[in-house]
Amino acid sequence: MAELLEHCAQARFVWNLACEQHAHWRPGRAAAPGYNEQARQLTEARAEFAWLRAGSVTVQQQALRDFAHAMSSFFRGIHRRPSWRKAGRDEGFRQVGVKPEHVQRLNRRYGRVLVPKVGWVRFRWSRAVPEGVKSYRVTCDRAGRWHVAFAAIPDPIPGPGNGQTVGLDRGIAVSAALSTGELLVVAGFSQGERRRLRRLQRRLARCARGSNRRARVKAAIARVKARVTERRKDWVEKISTDLARRFDLIRVEDLDIRGMTRSAKGTVERPGRNVGQKAGLNRGILANGWGLLVARLQHKAAGRVRKVRAAYTSQQCSACGHIAPENRQSQAVFRCVACGFACHADVNAARNIAAGRAVTARGALQPLGGAVNREPHLATSAP
Ligand SMILES: [Zn+2]
Repeated sequence: MAELLEHCAQARFVWNLACEQHAHWRPGRAAAPGYNEQARQLTEARAEFAWLRAGSVTVQQQALRDFAHAMSSFFRGIHRRPSWRKAGRDEGFRQVGVKPEHVQRLNRRYGRVLVPKVGWVRFRWSRAVPEGVKSYRVTCDRAGRWHVAFAAIPDPIPGPGNGQTVGLDRGIAVSAALSTGELLVVAGFSQGERRRLRRLQRRLARCARGSNRRARVKAAIARVKARVTERRKDWVEKISTDLARRFDLIRVEDLDIRGMTRSAKGTVERPGRNVGQKAGLNRGILANGWGLLVARLQHKAAGRVRKVRAAYTSQQCSACGHIAPENRQSQAVFRCVACGFACHADVNAARNIAAGRAVTARGALQPLGGAVNREPHLATSAP
């Protein structure tokens, strides 16, 4: 395991180096180095540090590529800015270019994977390794357990050919509402889990720094959180498959995940202190879950997902198009003050998204008569 930790440390070192270079970059300055420039610097760093040189170059290069990918996700607004990785918290590395013979099944319960510079590593075969696997990621969670995850882009699912469009609205109380009227709820923390988490966090506060007890409590906290993360991922897989099978076109909000995450967790630089609170916790899960859901939809319903710029979807009537803040009577109730149409507020928003409706701020400020009769303006963009 020491060699695996070494891979993690080197991947982290390279990632943080890239992170630091980008942190100094401000608009107006010369561009921060891209992947190619950083790859060249990696070669120099390897020449300089024997410690890096002794490690796997593919692991280190992959960390750079992952960073470049994270930056591009950040610029496209689908993820937070990649941040500094800390020892003990972000232990992991990725290996690509995996050949089929590098992953072997030993028996019913165990398999083994070939890790560069380490050799064969045995792992529990807890779920099917996808066919044609190209890469894997090895991580060590805060509970000190090692995981290996094999990645494969899921095969696209053919559309049903029924010409049906669905709109998806993400929410806080309801995880996602469909324009069909379905309300989908992702299982977040159960009451028991939340209680246990609170108890553990209180206990953690009383532990002496660096003590064994503190490490044990931290591991227990990580286990509770990992369980919820697993549940969320399962949910995303189920829902995305279901939607890709049932609808030909899927419209989702093109929303600013960064803004959402920030509201729950504070800024990336200064994380909020209320992360342990119920709302913050579940909102964090939703923010992550939403990005993952859209990504999975784009894999499974390839070419059939449209992002809609969704301003005013919660204030606009999906029946007559009238926009007024008073339409939204409460978190859950929508009742149009113009035509009397009433429905679940999130479903109403999902119907607006399904219609591909997007209203500009200018439109909303127009006198009532003008805005009401305007043709819905299609503003969809290819994913
Ligand atoms: Zn109306």
